[in-house]
Amino acid sequence: MTDIPLLQQQTGEPTGRFFTARRILCIGQNYPAHTSEMGGDPDKQPPFYFMKPLSALNVSGQLSLPSYSNDVHHELELVLGLVSGGSNFSEAEAAACIGGVALGLDMTCRDVQKQAKAAGRPWEQAKGFDGAAPCSDIMALTAKDLHTVGEMSLHCNGHLVQRGHWKHMLWSPIELLQHISRYIALQQGDLVFTGTPAGVARVKEGDSLCASADGLPMRLQVTVV
Ligand code: ZN
Repeated sequence: MTDIPLLQQQTGEPTGRFFTARRILCIGQNYPAHTSEMGGDPDKQPPFYFMKPLSALNVSGQLSLPSYSNDVHHELELVLGLVSGGSNFSEAEAAACIGGVALGLDMTCRDVQKQAKAAGRPWEQAKGFDGAAPCSDIMALTAKDLHTVGEMSLHCNGHLVQRGHWKHMLWSPIELLQHISRYIALQQGDLVFTGTPAGVARVKEGDSLCASADGLPMRLQVTVV
């Protein structure tokens, strides 16, 4: 388990409490433009999810690139922190389990993922490496205040590389939780990475990544080492 500092809503002041992360769930292809850049059909397909091991969770501010990939991409994502769980959620039940939001990077070895896709193999070697899920502090937030979170941005070495708004998701945060809860029981401590907007690209040693969002007081800063 990994404890992530929990911040007060709006002010971002530390609450002195922590969000204890237990699992990492990630949604694939949830923004039309990114679905197109991955060669998928941006028409509304049912969402799909995959998991990263908890050992991928990275709150260190540093990212080591795996030696077996030459094409590790950043994927900027809004992350939901769940404070309760359950199965077969109604809309209201899904909303009730959201207790916080964070900014995350679903780091992906694109070359390895392409090979896995072509061979019909799972994605863990592409997406589950140690430290592959950098995550910011979590700001306490309930679903009714999700509208206060605006556009998120990722800068690499000071240049804007990704930008997106959760309102442009193919499937909303609530719909995503409802969907996942039909397959597995969601649990307190689940982190849900909700998919990336367009603009994914390679990172290299020495890069400095900075994710931020309108309405969120915290940033996620990661140096590639
Ligand atoms: Zn992703």
